[in-house]
Amino acid sequence: MTVRVDLPAGGGVWADLVGQEHTVQTLARAAAAAAARLTGEPGEGMTHAWLLTGPPGSGRSIAARAFAAALQCPQLGCGHCRVCHHVLGGTSADVELVRTEAVTFPIKDVRRLVGRAAMHPVGGRWQIIVVEDADRLQERTGNVLLKSIEEPTPHTVWLLCAPAVDDVLPTIRSRCRHISLRTPSSTAVADVLVRRDGVDPAMAAFAARAAQGHIGRAKRLATDEQARLRRHEVMRLPQSLDNLSAALQGAADLVQAATEEAIETEGSRAVIETDELRRALGVGPGSRQPAGAAGQLKELESDQKRRATRGKRDGIDRALVDLAGFYRDVLVVQTGAGVELVNEEMRETVTSVARSSSSETTVRRIMAVLHAREAIEVNVAPLLAVEAMTVALRAG
Ligand SMILES: [Zn+2]
Repeated sequence: MTVRVDLPAGGGVWADLVGQEHTVQTLARAAAAAAARLTGEPGEGMTHAWLLTGPPGSGRSIAARAFAAALQCPQLGCGHCRVCHHVLGGTSADVELVRTEAVTFPIKDVRRLVGRAAMHPVGGRWQIIVVEDADRLQERTGNVLLKSIEEPTPHTVWLLCAPAVDDVLPTIRSRCRHISLRTPSSTAVADVLVRRDGVDPAMAAFAARAAQGHIGRAKRLATDEQARLRRHEVMRLPQSLDNLSAALQGAADLVQAATEEAIETEGSRAVIETDELRRALGVGPGSRQPAGAAGQLKELESDQKRRATRGKRDGIDRALVDLAGFYRDVLVVQTGAGVELVNEEMRETVTSVARSSSSETTVRRIMAVLHAREAIEVNVAPLLAVEAMTVALRAG
């Protein structure tokens, strides 16, 4: 039997991990063990390489950051000291948060990380590298990491995050301690929206259900009317299937809405970044551009383009998850499963689609949506994939 660890008052750095009590206990215990080790005690339960997996939105990168903060904070993750703030805010000198906008990790980035991991921590505790998308490490780049993960310096901690264990190279995952996060229940997500973000309980309940366990998405739906309107547009697609031109228009609208959302979120960030880089490089009106500045600005620009493409794809993927949720509801009604509908507020539409089709048709439709997600994942042009899906949905 394992002893429960007392968490800092108010949950500390763990407060935002919704519905993940088991994970929190394991990581909090490891942080306590790590602190013991710093004082020369054996500190059992601490490992130098961790793999955190969980479906999108379950909070795996939140968990990684919280764990990093708990390792660095003298009070094991109090959540309010300077150390905690720096780690959670991504400005700690001893915690590097890495995420690639590219489909795979560039090898030069991984080499830099390995060098970084070997450095002595400024704060004297741990040198932590958080790789938020370890599923994007490929064989060649992964091999560069292996040795550092296998024989880390005594101060190094690797925290790798990925959607599922199978997404990570076997050579890497076999060297990590694995922690798996669950999809939180909609009640747990709604609770955090009310408690942390001050969202009205009815709105929180709707957003939590609609987001299907994705906390970030739930917050966005609860607090951003544009996001709600876009979702509403997407959910009209199943009702416009009778008419081919309306259905294809619906497909085009879906892709358009995801693009707009990506531009909205990425656009303002890109402007700030470019301004900051220009200032750092001393590029300004009337001043001569220093050598190398053009290259750096160009590199940033191509990073931003990649990120915008990824943002757009993520947005379309979310819309497709919403659609799959609709047909899942239709199936719930058709099979009389008696579980909560994701789209409770659309029960009438769900019921009418359920009456006018068979459960075999619904299963085929869900497959068509999943197929479109996979096609986009392997770089099929989004509009093409969504149009093909729409045609398949009509065929029933
Ligand atoms: Zn702290």
